[in-house]
Amino acid sequence: MKIKINNTTLKHIYKIQTLKLSAIFDDFVHTIFPENCNACNTILVAGEKIICTNCRLTLPLTNQLNTKENPLFIRFYGTINLEFAAAFLMYSKQSRVQNILKAIKYEGSPDLANYFGKWMADELIFNGLQSKFDVIIPVPLHPNRQKIRGYNQAEELAKPIAEGLKIELGNNIVERQKHTVSQTKLSQEKRFENVQNIFFVKKPTNIKGKSILLIDDVITTGSTIESLANEILKSEPKSLSLITLADAFGEN
Ligand SMILES: [Zn+2]
Repeated sequence: MKIKINNTTLKHIYKIQTLKLSAIFDDFVHTIFPENCNACNTILVAGEKIICTNCRLTLPLTNQLNTKENPLFIRFYGTINLEFAAAFLMYSKQSRVQNILKAIKYEGSPDLANYFGKWMADELIFNGLQSKFDVIIPVPLHPNRQKIRGYNQAEELAKPIAEGLKIELGNNIVERQKHTVSQTKLSQEKRFENVQNIFFVKKPTNIKGKSILLIDDVITTGSTIESLANEILKSEPKSLSLITLADAFGEN
């Protein structure tokens, strides 16, 4: 008996073989160059990417997205007129969350920030917050620092959030004009001076009357966010909100 193989069947077989080969190649690369979980550092098994399954299930989420009167919101009460504020992960020293924050800043890859941005977008949608904001503004880095790092981690967090919520990514609305020294090495007074007038709103019309959401990777003293918020508020947005991956206040 002769078996007839038409073009569609051939294409189908070819596709299956290619997929199999690509899976074999992935396994091979994984065996030669195993990747580690960015949170707990265990070796990832096949099928795991960025963080391991255990970390995905057990990382300490704050659940602040569903609580308006949460610690981050209360901390800025009376300083910045925020409509909404939330930290996504609970921070503590020498923890998996600290490992994640370090990797996001210093490991030269935006993938980890994209991963958490996507996760944050899913949680925002899950908590019914998808229509609350019009424009997302990631806290800008100084252009020189961004050039050295190759990316702005806050922007890489913000990209999947803007995509998930189907709103504008305003990564060109505000510019950071001054290089600042690390806030953690300064006294409270110096911290305030260090970040004064470092932001410049290039496109105030993109802010006026809009509900703005600021995105940052980590908040330590809060002075940088305060400085940025004050500058943005001059352009009269309808409201201003803030979401950060982690809140490390009081830890430095
Ligand atoms: Zn892990």
